[in-house]
Amino acid sequence: MSSSKPRDLSRFGPGTRLVHAGRDPASQHGFVNTPIYRGSTVLFPSYDDLQHRRARYSYGTVGTPTVDALTEAWSEIAGAAGTVATPSGLAALSVALMASVSAGDHLLVTDSAYRPTRQFCDGVLARYGVEITYYDPLAGAGIAALMRENTRAVLVEAPGSQSFEMQDVPAIAEAVHARGAENGKGATVIMDNTWATPLLFPPHERGVDIAVEAGTKYLSGGSDLLLGLTSANKAHWPALRRTYDHFAMCPGPEDVFLALRGLRTMALRLSEHGRRGLEMARWLQARPEVLRVLHPGLPDDPGHAIFTRDFAGASGLFGVILKPVPERAVAAMLDGLELFGMGFSWGGFESLVIPFDCTVYRTATRWAPGGPALRFHIGLEEPEDLKADLEAGFARLREAT
Ligand SMILES: *Cc1c(COP(=O)(O)O)cnc(C)c1O
Repeated sequence: MSSSKPRDLSRFGPGTRLVHAGRDPASQHGFVNTPIYRGSTVLFPSYDDLQHRRARYSYGTVGTPTVDALTEAWSEIAGAAGTVATPSGLAALSVALMASVSAGDHLLVTDSAYRPTRQFCDGVLARYGVEITYYDPLAGAGIAALMRENTRAVLVEAPGSQSFEMQDVPAIAEAVHARGAENGKGATVIMDNTWATPLLFPPHERGVDIAVEAGTKYLSGGSDLLLGLTSANKAHWPALRRTYDHFAMCPGPEDVFLALRGLRTMALRLSEHGRRGLEMARWLQARPEVLRVLHPGLPDDPGHAIFTRDFAGASGLFGVILKPVPERAVAAMLDGLELFGMGFSWGGFESLVIPFDCTVYRTATRWAPGGPALRFHIGLEEPEDLKADLEAGFARLREAT
């Protein structure tokens, strides 16, 4: 399929492009999906073709029709010049960062970033001579004041991991790029866009140079897959592709196939996760045990104005701050839940809850929520059943208080 020119889908809406992008049944004997190509070695038809690498495919790490089906579809949906696929979301973030900074450079990272992103910055990039500063996620255009002569990348994430602050991404991107135009040395705006996906926040249209998606979450939709995608605009695509090829950070073909399968229904699932998530957030907000709900889709959330301006909707992940209770009461609430599972990751069909505490790793801002914090992912169970499960949980919490 990849030898044929990708179809022009630009006149269609995002949901339609999601169904048709990266797929050419005519080149697959009419079968709807591109099959799983497994392989390391690719044979060249002649000596001359081999010497001049004259072939669409040359080696398994560099690309296969299965991988290209996914990356072409993702570029179409994200509005990117190109996309690379990686074996996890964290790998997608690391390749974005490695493509953007070198020894002696300065990197700005939002204090609300996914914690393993921080660990990669502090544990790997710092060892290679990159200086890292964490900044207040609400900096907005004020990011310009934090930029140094050698600032080469700025990492954003909206809303923040666990804490759900909404960043003004267009304002940050504009300020960063204006600084680059001034001193002739640009900085790359990198975004972890996992929460929204390009369906709810088109990253490159909003000024992001390199966008990262943990496909592990909504691309899979089944908690059965680890995968990442890193997309870039035209200016940053060559550097991203080069870095990716140096690492040969290619995912396994079955995982890519599963991601393609999930991709086709992602719009439908995401809108249901979003709708049910907001319903549950409102219900939780009205509970006497709850101090605050962290969900930018709620009208009284501090990030709501930016959210309605920049986002087409919410996904199913949000936070809840409980009124102060002893830890044993939180444990009693969570231990007896029948439908909500306790575990990391999210984006699958099932509801999840985990306790979290940002105080242990934040460095630029103080996290003082006023009570125990829980992160919820709302799955595709019936909301009434989820409410009953939580209602019983709150009864256990009160009893143990
Ligand atoms: C899960 C997650 C990642 C990492 O994805 P993995 O596939 O688990 O490595 C990155 N960013 C965010 C915001 C995530 O939630």
